[in-house]
Amino acid sequence: MIKCLIIGSGPAGYTAAIYAARANLSPVLYEGHQPGGQLTTTSEVENFPGYPEGVNGNELMADLRRQAVRFGTDIRSGRVTACDFSSSPLSVTIDNEQKIEAETVIICTGAYAKYLGIPDEKKYEGMGVSACATCDGFFYRNRSVAVVGGGDTACEEAQYLSGIANQVYLIVRKPYLRASKVMQERVLNNPKINVLFNTNTVGLFGEEFVEGAHLVEHKGTDQERHFDIAIDGFFLAIGHKPNTEVFRGQIELDEEGFIVTKGKSTATSAPGVFAAGDVADPVYRQAISAAGAGCHAAMDVERYLMQKE
Ligand code: NDP
Repeated sequence: MIKCLIIGSGPAGYTAAIYAARANLSPVLYEGHQPGGQLTTTSEVENFPGYPEGVNGNELMADLRRQAVRFGTDIRSGRVTACDFSSSPLSVTIDNEQKIEAETVIICTGAYAKYLGIPDEKKYEGMGVSACATCDGFFYRNRSVAVVGGGDTACEEAQYLSGIANQVYLIVRKPYLRASKVMQERVLNNPKINVLFNTNTVGLFGEEFVEGAHLVEHKGTDQERHFDIAIDGFFLAIGHKPNTEVFRGQIELDEEGFIVTKGKSTATSAPGVFAAGDVADPVYRQAISAAGAGCHAAMDVERYLMQKE
């Protein structure tokens, strides 16, 4: 019987593991299909306290993992494919085959990139369409790319790609950027980035690989204008969806699928099940707030087990 099972290996999962291990809860952590989580697809992280010069996302996650291992966390590879939180012990199935039992579970499964929903995204997936500039930017050296979105992710990706590609379009559906001021300034002052405000993507074209995008400016108004841009890469950066499908029906989720936690605690609607990080946070969604929530979850687990005993 596992005392404290942690699902997910982002900042929330590893921080929960560090705290749980130091509290002698012998945590077992399943890494999931993307060990290290979303930060492994980002470039430089400049706002995680303790790194005055910034830190590469992969290095940060490797450091957090090492710290969790140092205190005895049992880190295993595998994905949760089913669960039953209706009674104690809690039951979780790994990779459709192995059933394990746990007294407590901390869900830290994070979130994933959203797509626009146009059929061409699927058609050109891996042929010019990507949701991760850090992963795929390398293929667009001296070429032309577009990034969709107006938040921090989109600005960060556009900025990153401008160091690789010849030209970067940033396609923003509103007349303004939603990103933080500092990111906005970097993008707007970057001569390689061409920001297309009030613009929506309606399709992509190309023989085999993406060769361009069909765009509409001022859609639905009398200024509506249809035009095409020539691009080799099309990067989505329009936000994220929580990884909670496997928990649906077992714990309370909000209408967007984020896990609902009770008051200031990390407790979910199922006794013994806690949640931390982006999977339960539609508001802040920061690495540091996820790490903080991971700490809270481990402390909540400790208290829960103490009260139970
Ligand atoms: P956001 O939700 O902040 O932004 C999403 C962007 O995509 C918005 O501009 C939104 O437009 C646009 N969008 C959404 N759906 C569509 C659509 N169907 N078609 C076109 N555009 C669309 O997501 P982010 O991933 O950028 O950021 C998430 C959180 O993470 C934020 O809190 C952000 O600050 C943080 N973050 C911080 C970073 C850092 O500090 N280094 C790096 C990356 C993220 P609209 O405004 O019209 O809704």
